[in-house]
Amino acid sequence: MKLTIGYLYGDLMNIYGDTGNIIALKKRAQWRGIEVTVKNISIGDRIPTSDVGTQIDLYFFGGGQDQAQKSVARDLAVSSKGKVIKQDVERGVPLLAICGGYQLLGEFYKPHHGQKLPGIELFPAYTVAGDKRMIGNIVIESMFGKLVGFENHSGKTFLKKGSLPAGMVICGFGNNGKDKTEGCIYKNAIGCYMHGSLLPKNPKLTDWLLKKALEVKYGKDINLEPLDDTLEFQAQITAIKKFS
Ligand code: GLN
Repeated sequence: MKLTIGYLYGDLMNIYGDTGNIIALKKRAQWRGIEVTVKNISIGDRIPTSDVGTQIDLYFFGGGQDQAQKSVARDLAVSSKGKVIKQDVERGVPLLAICGGYQLLGEFYKPHHGQKLPGIELFPAYTVAGDKRMIGNIVIESMFGKLVGFENHSGKTFLKKGSLPAGMVICGFGNNGKDKTEGCIYKNAIGCYMHGSLLPKNPKLTDWLLKKALEVKYGKDINLEPLDDTLEFQAQITAIKKFS
């Protein structure tokens, strides 16, 4: 089987080790004999299309500083990327967005300085920069069990009525440090504030993204061959014990 990962603005939106998520997705696919291509999709690029939509089977969108987010928001607004990404998510293509990437997939992100940055309105949520940065380790309860990561954001994200959080905060700040929600999930798209990078220590989430991508691409149920996740779970359990 083959898989193409669309790395959104990987040259601009890749802080706090977020490229580690691409490595984790790639490795866990390759360990199962799945051929992986990573396509960087950045400013001025078009998302390659196919007869079913696009050639992208899974999107990843990392975090970034306000400055990079301004250029990326502009590109998303003037290009067809936002519409194409939403169409792919509607047909079930999975997506993982972290922090700055997550913020730009909502309705808008209002940074401390300058104009409100328009999002692509994938997630029914909006973000406003707060007056203090929310920094530290984070543990949440989710549909994948406990997930552990690291957060560093001033943006406070508020979910609109009817939207679903990716999980509930056990320790850390999450979306806004107030309502105990963390992230947002819509169909197979997940946005969250969990850097770390997130996926290496949370193999269940990694495999869920891979499974969904392959099931949409090949149009059938896919059961991934189990891997020896002893080390991954040791890292996850150690971190959860230490932080929560
Ligand atoms: N610039 C955004 C904020 O500070 C996102 C930061 C990030 O991606 N870590 O909230």
